[in-house]
Amino acid sequence: NTGLMAGKRGLIMGLANDKSIAWGIAQAVAAQGAQLAFSYQGDALKKRVDPLAAEVGSSLVLPCDVGDEASIDALFAALKAEWGTLDFVVHAIGFSDKEQLRGRYVDTTRDNFTMTMDISVFSFTAICQRAAAMMPEGGSLLTLTYYGAERVMPHYNVMGVAKAALEASVRYLAEDLGKDGIRVNAISAGPIKTLAASGIGDFRYIMKWNELNSPLRRNVTQADVGKSALYLLSDLGSGVTGETHHVDAGYHVVGMKAVDAPDI
Ligand code: NAD
Repeated sequence: NTGLMAGKRGLIMGLANDKSIAWGIAQAVAAQGAQLAFSYQGDALKKRVDPLAAEVGSSLVLPCDVGDEASIDALFAALKAEWGTLDFVVHAIGFSDKEQLRGRYVDTTRDNFTMTMDISVFSFTAICQRAAAMMPEGGSLLTLTYYGAERVMPHYNVMGVAKAALEASVRYLAEDLGKDGIRVNAISAGPIKTLAASGIGDFRYIMKWNELNSPLRRNVTQADVGKSALYLLSDLGSGVTGETHHVDAGYHVVGMKAVDAPDI
């Protein structure tokens, strides 16, 4: 512990269980002295989040459905009452109808398109609005995205379109909030087996493909993402904003790999 996050207070949104990317980030920043609050969606998740929060020394566990403005307001009112100010927020939330995370993008429905954009894109902007109001000394805001925003990946479909919009919103938010010393970034994580990922068609195949074709010849872990998040959330990332930072074992730089993997 070098105390990189000592004295910093942050909100982690999107913890569902110990496989969540949010958990890798929470562990990395807590190990460096951050004080954490967690938000969860729906009563069923509270019993999973409570013990994990306790593991990193937090008892501030609050409900929030990001599809509901009143619920977001209630979360930030509770945080303001407890802490007054805030140093960072991690938004590790995305959602789409599982039935449309297989097959073709062209078959996306209007209802699911709208819902996916609302929960997976606008929610980050809604969170930034409230968080920025609690960051008089500046701060760091972080969301999670995926390479399906940049290139076509099998079955990612409407979620790829949403992530492209999320990455664009990170750039606009960075410009708007930069003069207040607030940095806004995204981590583009390689595929990791989580609850949300298990809804994507052929996910095991996508993971195998990434393992065989990425420069590091492996998949990334929650801990890999946690360490890079620590950089962006701490003073180590003080000059970085508006960035989509790939934590994907280098997969995004490869056009075509030489035939050196015996399984291909
Ligand atoms: P996860 O299932 O552990 O987390 C997703 C979280 O979103 C859950 O905690 C869920 O409760 C929350 N959520 C969904 N709808 C919500 C709502 N209306 N209100 C509040 N919370 C809501 O899965 P994860 O893979 O850790 O996902 C975290 C983020 O990482 C997502 O944005 C995802 O798209 C992104 N991501 C995941 C991968 C991967 O391969 N797992 C890769 C790149 C990016």
